Amino acid sequence: MGRRQMALSEPAGGGRTAEAGRSEVERPAELDVSLERRIGKRSAGPIEKYLDLHTVGELLNHFPRRYLNRGELTPIAQLPFDEEVTLIARVLSSNTRQMRARKGSITEVVVTDDSARQGMLTISFFNGWAAKSELLPGRRALFSGKVNRYRNALSLTNPNYLLLDEEEGDADEEAQALRPIPVYPVSGKLTSWKVAQVTASLVELVDLAQLPDPLPGEVMARDRLLPIADAYRLIHAPAVPADWQRARDRFRYQEALVLQAALARRRAQAALEEATARRAVPDGVLAAFDARLPFTLTAGQRDVGDTLAEELARNHPMNRLLQGEVGSGKTIVALRAMLQVIDAGGQAALLAPTEVLAAQHYQSIRRTLGPLAEGGMLGGAENGTRVVLLTGSMTAAARKQAMLDAASGEAGIVIGTHALLSDNVQFFDLGLIVVDEQHRFGVEQRDALRAKARKPPHLLVMTATPIPRTVAMTVFGDLETSTLSELPAGRAPISTHVVGLAEHPAWADRLWQRAREEIDAGHQVYVVCPKIGADDAGMSDDDGAAPAEDAAELASVTAMLEQLQQEPSLAGVRIAPLHGKLDPAEKSATMAAFAAGELDLLVSTTVIEVGVDVPNATLMVIADADRFGISQLHQLRGRVGRGGLPGMCLLVTNLEAGHPSRVRLDAVQSTTDGFVLSQEDLKLRREGDILGASQSGGRSALRFLRVVEHEDLISRARRDAQAIVETDPELLEHPALARAIDLYLNPEKEAFLERG
Ligand code: ADP
Ligand code: MG
Repeated sequence: MGRRQMALSEPAGGGRTAEAGRSEVERPAELDVSLERRIGKRSAGPIEKYLDLHTVGELLNHFPRRYLNRGELTPIAQLPFDEEVTLIARVLSSNTRQMRARKGSITEVVVTDDSARQGMLTISFFNGWAAKSELLPGRRALFSGKVNRYRNALSLTNPNYLLLDEEEGDADEEAQALRPIPVYPVSGKLTSWKVAQVTASLVELVDLAQLPDPLPGEVMARDRLLPIADAYRLIHAPAVPADWQRARDRFRYQEALVLQAALARRRAQAALEEATARRAVPDGVLAAFDARLPFTLTAGQRDVGDTLAEELARNHPMNRLLQGEVGSGKTIVALRAMLQVIDAGGQAALLAPTEVLAAQHYQSIRRTLGPLAEGGMLGGAENGTRVVLLTGSMTAAARKQAMLDAASGEAGIVIGTHALLSDNVQFFDLGLIVVDEQHRFGVEQRDALRAKARKPPHLLVMTATPIPRTVAMTVFGDLETSTLSELPAGRAPISTHVVGLAEHPAWADRLWQRAREEIDAGHQVYVVCPKIGADDAGMSDDDGAAPAEDAAELASVTAMLEQLQQEPSLAGVRIAPLHGKLDPAEKSATMAAFAAGELDLLVSTTVIEVGVDVPNATLMVIADADRFGISQLHQLRGRVGRGGLPGMCLLVTNLEAGHPSRVRLDAVQSTTDGFVLSQEDLKLRREGDILGASQSGGRSALRFLRVVEHEDLISRARRDAQAIVETDPELLEHPALARAIDLYLNPEKEAFLERG
């Protein structure tokens, strides 16, 4: 889907550039010419059918995923352990079966190569649907991947591969021996090989020189970037690796500039938007709230608070991202902003990612506000307001009442989950939207809520996952950023320990004795498991842990609950389960009971990951901790040590010391600095995960740009884009860039950027 929308560089409609002048006669744009006309029906047919690419521009922008270097072929008989290799081999047999310990299948493909000392190799694919259907006996393919050991033999696991023509070593192949081989995304019966051939002939046929270039000439000169014509030629038909590298550098910068120019244009437009100013008043509910706050705000809370107060009082919308370490007190900051809006006659909505969190916010905000939350009620403060909760699991009657309160303006603060987004939820005068824990929320959802206000409302997005600067610049590039970097005073540090059961089996018992000690001291304990029941797949399979067929059964809430109920050292301890499949009423009842100290130990999934705030909880045991990602672990442990009592987090793993997945655990043990961890996390994860998590659509639309690696380039593009938009807000002088932006922003992407 995203493929064709990644076309960054098609020219302005008439194929002319600003320099060429507006009066020039329009030529048919080369990139819009049909493939069939350029390369003939026989070549174009399969490309249209299997790749859904129909024009010259679409195929040119179908970039290779990677390149293979033919000079580096390794004979199977000489495979080096633990190194990246590329080899050509023929499939002898293929066999697919279900895995035993886990959901999914494993396809084992036996191959042999053409080298003098013929070797045989078994290649494994986990859930390799494509491999299963493509790597049939007799097929030749080029494989590349890292050599590992599997059941005492050298093997490749989930390698990249490229289907080759069936005849061996034809003359053409020999002649091309030194050229890097572009590997294209393909589908159906089309091989990457075929796409490479067609595309290589296309770049010869097309008059690339006439393509307008979205990059300003000065920038290309300054950074010595290839002009667009050369870039297309070399990215598709490189003679040496340096060719595609230079082409890639150019497209990478182009991608950054297009994205940043789009964001700069949005910022410029947002600055012109009108919103209702919500000025603070001296004697309103905010003042009353401040007067009864049981603690003093941290300096950071005060500073951010001042910024918000000032921006809410302006008559164009605030668009701000508030980052703050877990436990840094973002909620109070948001609540104070909400109260200012209420004082000015508006309403505020707080959008939470889960029912548990919404319910918790509701309770804690009502508790924090005290009589101020009982506006208009007996015993309530006279200048108070009303807080309502609106979630999908409420009874119809309760929901109806909440909706009435929102629509009539009776409720100053409406807290909810996705249910708030439903069409029949209306507000009397929505002035501020607060989105908590942004990484769980899609952008469309934010926008759906914005659409409920008569004028664009003010927006505050909060996240506890520290966002590296470059990610903030790309994903949240149109939001201003504030950071709460200090924790409130008196916060005891959390100590974290990796508990390696492989080295220290005896620690398995010691764990529960430790839990008992906490509980005897009057504290509470979380035990977190990666899955709910014995037969679900793990919840964090995508976090980078390699699929291992023989993986021991993962800890589940149900099994753990049973085990702990039998555990002698926990006799008499009040234990309950919590997970997403419980019925919502039970979920909130359990959470409330735990918060009230009526339960000692909660066995749960990651539903407690975000926001849950029980100050009396001091110990968290995370079972099979290697199944979680770094930021998830960091979030999870933020649930303990919140009440001035020192917190402890035990990361339990069955993996041996030195296993690659234990790197994450060691990282989490070594620091509590969320920014350090998120950098570490980004290094270990794939890009798509980062952007994908923040964009509802999932997959990253960036082709060449890696937000972690290319910080300098992104900053440069941001400055260039800002300068271009300042002098030419409508991009009239930059038609090719404007067109590239339009093409780049698919409808989803548009929604992601749209805040108007
Ligand atoms: P987070 O930033 O993780 O959302 P919260 O807003 O939930 O953090 O705050 C965590 C806890 O710290 C809450 O119990 C809150 O009442 C408390 N808190 C917030 N600000 C302060 C402060 N300035 N001093 C002491 N405690 C605070
Ligand atoms: Mg929070």
